[in-house]
This record gives sequence, C-alpha cells and structure tokens, in this order.
Amino acid sequence: MANLMVLMIDGVAADHYAQDKGRFPHFAALEARGFRIERLKSEVLGTSLPGRTSILTGVTADVSGVYGNKIWDGEVFRYANPDDIRVMTLPARAKAADMKVASIGMGMVRPDDTHIFHGPWWSGNFIQRARDAEAVPADASWLRVAMHVPGTEFEQVCADAGLPSKLPNIDMSSEAQKAMFGILADMAMFDWVGALAASPNAPDLILSEFLIPDIFQHNIGYRSDLAHWSVMQADAALGRIQRWLRSAGVEDEWNIAVLSDHGHSHIDKALQPQVILPGVRTQSEGGCLMVAPRDADELAMVTEKLAAFDVEPYPRTCVPAEMRDQVAIFVSPERISFEQDNLEATEPILPPKAVSSHGQRPGLPGDDRFALFAGPAVPQGSVAVAAATQVAPTLAMMLGLALDGFPAQPVFAPEAQVAAK
Ligand SMILES: [Zn+2]
Repeated sequence: MANLMVLMIDGVAADHYAQDKGRFPHFAALEARGFRIERLKSEVLGTSLPGRTSILTGVTADVSGVYGNKIWDGEVFRYANPDDIRVMTLPARAKAADMKVASIGMGMVRPDDTHIFHGPWWSGNFIQRARDAEAVPADASWLRVAMHVPGTEFEQVCADAGLPSKLPNIDMSSEAQKAMFGILADMAMFDWVGALAASPNAPDLILSEFLIPDIFQHNIGYRSDLAHWSVMQADAALGRIQRWLRSAGVEDEWNIAVLSDHGHSHIDKALQPQVILPGVRTQSEGGCLMVAPRDADELAMVTEKLAAFDVEPYPRTCVPAEMRDQVAIFVSPERISFEQDNLEATEPILPPKAVSSHGQRPGLPGDDRFALFAGPAVPQGSVAVAAATQVAPTLAMMLGLALDGFPAQPVFAPEAQVAAK
C-alpha cells in the first residue's frame, strides 16, 4: 500500500481554484493525473477548526463535537482543541493499524496520535489566558500541542536534508518582518514534509497545512493580488515537496491529497453583536452567530433584534444533541459577516475588518472549497460535488484502512492494482 500525504491549504475556494488555475501549476498538474472534487462542500459551520476536524474524522460536527472555532463549555465560548474531538481521527486510525504517522503543523491533531509531531506555527494564538487561577482545559490541550518537541528523528531528517529544524527567527516587533513569519513558517512545514517523505524511514501518513492564504484573504481580499501571491506560495511549496520525492526516487510511492478546510468570498459589511446584543453571550463564526441565551426571554429578545438586520435563526443540528438547548445559531444575509472584537464600536453595522470570509449560511457556494487527489491509489477523473464527510473515508481508503465507522462513502473507488494488494 502506498503512503499518503494530506496537505491542507487554508481557505482556497472552489471558484478561486477554478478561475485562477494558471496560478496553481503544481495543483493543476496533480489534477491532470488524478482526481478533482470541483465543489467540496464545507463542514457546518464553515470555519477553520470544524473544517480541519471534518477532514480528520469524516463525521459531522454534532458527532465530532467541533462545531465552531469556539464551542460552548457551559460558561463561555472557548477555542475548540484537539482533545474536544469525540471520535477516532485519521492519524489515530493509522497509528492503531501500526502505520507510522507524522503531523507537521496540522491543526487539531493530537501529538499522541502520531510518531513525529510538530505543532502548528499559529497554535500559540489559541492558548487562552486563564481567567482565573485554574487553567481551563483548552489551555492544557493547545499548550501540549504548541510545546511538543518533535524529537531526534525529526532533527536527524532535517540535518540530513540540510534544512533547519526550527521555525524562522523573526523580529516580531517589526510589522514587516512579522507579516513574513507566517509564509516562511508555512514554507518550512512543507519542506519538512518533503524531507520526511523522502527519508529512508518515511512515515506512512503525513498531515500538514499551509495557513497564510486564509489570513491574506481575510485581511486584504478574496482573489486580491496579495492573496494570489499567497496561494502561489502554497503551489510552489507543493512543487518543492514533489522535488524532494523525485530526488529520492519515491514519487510513485506517494498518494497526495491537496484540499482546503473551507472557501472564501467577499464581505461588504460586518454586524457588531457587541453593539446589537450587549451582554449577550455570543460567538461570531463568519456569517453565522452562535448565542448561548440565559433563558427563553433572552433568546426571544436576541431573535427579534437580529431580525431587524435580516438575520435569521438557523437549525442547531451541527451542535451535539446534548448541547442543543444551550446554543442557538443565527445566519446573516449573503456578504455580511459578524465581528464582535471591536469594543469601541457604537454602530451596529460597520465596514468589515475581514474583507473576505467564510462560514456563511451553510450551502452558499462561496464556502465551497477545492480538493485534488493523485497517486497510485487514485483514478483519473472528477466529481462535480462532494460532501465534507466524504473526505476522511477517501483518505482512509487511499491508506488502505478499514472504512468502518465512516457514515459516508469515498469519492472514488481505489485503482484496481492498489485494491488487489
Ligand atoms: Zn481556515
């Protein structure tokens, strides 16, 4: 059975890839010899941690437990973390099947489900300051991820490959240098993936991600020139991985999956929940707003105030069943998002800080993402649409793992030569 690398590129929409394919020559070359999902639907809700969790588990958010970047813990909306995932993940399944697993910067993977682990370069941002003397569980989980030391095998692979084993050393007091840190860290992660895949004792499964296209689009704009530059860096980084494989003569041994966690699209205005609903416990997830109402009266008040902005209640089916009476969900009209961080705001609706975003009303096409697969287990072809739940069983099948426990089917049948092995 061939090996598998899963390369998650944060926030590349289906339309973005389709319209700008010339900017993605390495992605397009994978597609030419492999399989494409033209419109891979996002998980509900369509934000980053649910998207990653869906790729890793193949179950919907009400089952995985990760239905937002933040989830309600009974007192507060806090960042979801890898220990919140309630089902077995792809790396855990592979490890249980005696496969060697590496996660190089992939969010929502537990270090203990791998043999080689480097935390995401952004994981420090997710470590919440404890509000009281006792640290909340989220701190411990993300701390474990952020502080994990990859270990001697990783160091040796880097040394043999002539690569640094540490993230770039950047002067974070300089805004210009700070802006470059993410892209350099993303490039470092993909170079590490390439070196590991080309090493003599390569993992069977490598998971990694390239985050910065999401940030550039949020800050500068969907398909803006700098967003283009950021995705071109992701494409170039895939090319570097393939160069590592070719140099080691192992290109034919690797299946590759390249996909996003969600799409991206233009945002015109941002509703300000902290102005519209002062004192209400809310969490903004793009065009969706989660509310933890204190009682039925507060929920009625929230529903009425949001209705004035054409914001509608949305079914709570993405929330785990036992939490559904505590968390309500609302969706905004298209091209309008929620932003609640501006505590100086006095207007209910403002120009958006994130001029492109995701997590819109579930099903809107801007949230659709791209997905490509190539390698010995992958037939040539394409499918117009696939559900988020189909990704993980497809990846499991490419690895040769059993498909029990996945509610959905893979997007393609394996190549005969692979299935026969
Ligand atoms: Zn994302």
